[in-house]
Amino acid sequence: MKNDTPIICSKANVQPTSLNVGWNFDHSYARLPEVFHAQLAPIPVQDPQVVILNHELAASLGLDLHTLSEQHAAALFSGNVLPDSAHPIAQAYAGHQFGHFTMLGDGRAILLGEHLTSIGERFDIQFKGSGQTPFSRRGDGRAALAPMLREYVISEAMHALNIPTTRSLAVVTTGEWVLREKPLPGAILTRVAASHIRVGTFQYAAGQSSDTAIKMLADYVIQRHYPTLNNAENPYLSLLDDVIERQAALVAQWMLVGFIHGVMNTDNMSICGQTIDYGPCAFIDSYDPKTVFSSIDQYGRYRYENQPLMAQWNLARFAETLLPLLDPSQEKAIALAEQAIHSFSERYQSRWMLGMRKKLGLLTEETEDTDLITALLNWMHRQETDYTNFFRALSVNRHPEEIATNNAEFFAWHAKWKSRLSRQPGSADIAYSMMQQSNPAIIPRNHCVEDALSAASEQGDLSPLKRLLSALANPFADIPQFNDLRNPPASPERNYQTFCGT
Ligand code: AMP
Ligand code: MG
Repeated sequence: MKNDTPIICSKANVQPTSLNVGWNFDHSYARLPEVFHAQLAPIPVQDPQVVILNHELAASLGLDLHTLSEQHAAALFSGNVLPDSAHPIAQAYAGHQFGHFTMLGDGRAILLGEHLTSIGERFDIQFKGSGQTPFSRRGDGRAALAPMLREYVISEAMHALNIPTTRSLAVVTTGEWVLREKPLPGAILTRVAASHIRVGTFQYAAGQSSDTAIKMLADYVIQRHYPTLNNAENPYLSLLDDVIERQAALVAQWMLVGFIHGVMNTDNMSICGQTIDYGPCAFIDSYDPKTVFSSIDQYGRYRYENQPLMAQWNLARFAETLLPLLDPSQEKAIALAEQAIHSFSERYQSRWMLGMRKKLGLLTEETEDTDLITALLNWMHRQETDYTNFFRALSVNRHPEEIATNNAEFFAWHAKWKSRLSRQPGSADIAYSMMQQSNPAIIPRNHCVEDALSAASEQGDLSPLKRLLSALANPFADIPQFNDLRNPPASPERNYQTFCGT
């Protein structure tokens, strides 16, 4: 799977040295055996133009993009000119897509390397939409502008919501059209991740003829993401446990903010516990556990309420790949794996409960809390209450009449909740401030995201996008100038659909 494309491409007439913005690449993944990746450079594009650069993220990585001219930035983030120290590869992986096992791999992504920050943090720097690879199957290897901006907006919003996620450093247009249902402007996203190792990477390794590949990958992941496990009695079992714990915590966070990933295939589940691969994802407006947005999720496999179950299903696939490492006796290995997988439900539930208590300002634990929460969610479902705005209204101590006019059932619940708050030690201020830190005032609402994306993609007007990004950067503040972005859609978006057609 070698390719002789030169690493420095001559398309843009730019000196590579001028692109030294502070990259400090290492290539530990590329040092894994060749079976894990294919070495190749991004395919140059016609006429790259910068759409957006994330200066704040760049600064946190120790990169200075301010010194780059627009032309240099476009050359850099299109992959037309690569940093000297890049060692571009596409990663091999497999995955269960909607329950069906498939061989996949980076069909349109190239990893430049792992950037090391001054404090020794390691981040994958990856281009998405950078042309065909040996794993492209029938795909064109490219991406359209709107979906790349969508990933930029939502991943950055998730970061501001304190939810582990990959991040977005830049989007450039390519000056080329990509053919989807109609021709769309092409673009490349630069994604920053703790790594791009997925459950699907383990599935791929487990599919190799000997157990060497899976052991190498597991050892690599322990070293990179779970180094304290080196000293564990059974490091591979501890790895399984810790991955389960991080996923339980992650999915609980999604549920608590009303996020639907939309395509929780095993290739889209990151081993380090970050949200990854923003395709048809979206946030719920009115509370309905059965909400599905993705047009390709016909049977609602990845609907809102099913996400914990699907995470557990994916983790079971992960556990299967580790069986040869868990114990020499297959029977014992299976028993250990099953026990670990069963622990997911309890771990998830306790994370979710912890988060729900925060959302409701509950500083202590009472057995009746579960009933209080269940009653509320049932009522919200029946009323089709706006999930985000409701919890924010509670957090800023709105009068119950302002939250749900003339609604006796809600008033009764509210009185119960108030009396629950009054039973706990500590001032009400502490409870309300915890609530305000847990209940965002603003989330990337579908209709606002769509408006911003169509202005950018169809009219070349970036101002709505930039305004939306500014608003989403401080989700726990009530900023009056952004009030319009907090409104639910005029008519409930029952039929709102997101498309994978990226
Ligand atoms: P995703 O739905 O983005 O998780 O992608 C699933 C798989 O399809 C991954 O292996 C991608 O690399 C691949 N893929 C998605 N879009 C394209 C494309 N336009 N060209 C080639 N491969 C693609
Ligand atoms: Mg994917």
